[in-house]
Amino acid sequence: MIETLRLTAEDAAGMLERGEFSAAELRGAYRTAIDERDPELHTFLTTVDEAEGDGVPIAFKDLISTRGVETTAGSRILAGYKPVFDATVASRCIDAGLPLLGKTNMDEFAMGSSTENSGFGPSRNPWDPDRVPGGSSGGSTAAVAAGLAPWALGSDTGGSIKQPAALCGVVGLRPTYGTVSRYGIVAFASSLDQIGPIAKTVRDCALLYRIVAGRDPCDSTTVELPQPVELPEAEDLRGLKIGVPKELNETEGIEPGVSEQVNRSLALARELGAEVEECSLPRSVDFGLPCYYLIAPSEASSNLARYDGVRYGYRAEGDGDIRQLYARTRDEGFGDEPKRRIMLGTYALSAGYYEAFYGQAQRVRTLIKQEHDALFERFDLLASPTSPTVAFRLGERTQNPLAMYLSDVLTIPSNMAGMPGLSIPCGLSDGLPVGLQLIGPQFSENALFRAGHALEQALAFDYVPERLR
Ligand code: GLN
Repeated sequence: MIETLRLTAEDAAGMLERGEFSAAELRGAYRTAIDERDPELHTFLTTVDEAEGDGVPIAFKDLISTRGVETTAGSRILAGYKPVFDATVASRCIDAGLPLLGKTNMDEFAMGSSTENSGFGPSRNPWDPDRVPGGSSGGSTAAVAAGLAPWALGSDTGGSIKQPAALCGVVGLRPTYGTVSRYGIVAFASSLDQIGPIAKTVRDCALLYRIVAGRDPCDSTTVELPQPVELPEAEDLRGLKIGVPKELNETEGIEPGVSEQVNRSLALARELGAEVEECSLPRSVDFGLPCYYLIAPSEASSNLARYDGVRYGYRAEGDGDIRQLYARTRDEGFGDEPKRRIMLGTYALSAGYYEAFYGQAQRVRTLIKQEHDALFERFDLLASPTSPTVAFRLGERTQNPLAMYLSDVLTIPSNMAGMPGLSIPCGLSDGLPVGLQLIGPQFSENALFRAGHALEQALAFDYVPERLR
């Protein structure tokens, strides 16, 4: 019996290499774990019976196109849709020999922070099934936390990798915009969407990032990485300057238990040799969220125009009138959140309001980028909590979209600036995981991995949920 709960992808790869078990046995062990624990957690939307590859298996968030395997982006409007091609990240995983376990649950079109917006029912947090796993990549993070997949890919537009990683006690990287291909990804907000790795350790994230990152001729916004991805080994933080933006650490709504664990990690960073100093992002935190909720819905309203009942997935019954077919399909196929955002985005982009809303938000976005750039003249990395709170209860925020939106108040500013961020688990508050967010300038993934790995060693967080130990 292979016990998947504690197994890292790196260890599994080593054991495969030494012939301790076969790739089929390893994949079988994850399938058994899925059969045992997923009925409760609902982290997968689809599992795959046959998959090629003699490496460590992987799960994909269900917005990554997989040839012949249903890809819904968590939406009923895409139910039954089987892409005829693989997303670039999927083919890179196939080329690296990673067999697919299945497709993970998510908020519809990645709009949400809890997976409760999924058209197929929510996922649950392996630390406490009455609580959400975060979102929108909550299926991927909960699957990794519960030992149902050694690693997974998610997507992060405003925080959808970092925030659920924090709530599930796993590691997640939102990469620098443009380092990972979006070809074949169901688009939400194209200027923000990035695919990134989710795993139990920082080294696993680095290994997976190495597989998927780099220029892709099919996505003109991608670039070649300036340096190859390094596997982190450092045990100290000597020479590293960490800025602690007070707005990201003292914003209203941060739970005391979250601050406590983050402060403990920062004290540890000092002991490891880092210089840790308070700093300020005066406008980014206040303006980040409102600016995001103009730009992301605007882009979404355009990206979601393609779901018309003709080209993909679900089609409503019609009476022969094409306009009615479009309208009915969209009315029946989309859930409330995409509808809310399509209305908001269409309004913000309309001729009379474009300058006042969308144009203005773009200018504010430039200011946010400049504020971050200025701090990175003085600091190598910035630190803050990833999420203001630990995992909340299912249903707690579903009636109040604004409360749900606030889940990302700390992850959105650096995303708006195109900068990478890593969330690592740094302790427990009320028995639930707390995430530490490390933010770096563009293309600083190696520095994030190094710092994240050194801290991870010192923190010695046990990523196996207490109730599963
Ligand atoms: N929670 C944010 C939203 O609802 C971010 C989602 C994401 O990063 N995909 O838009």
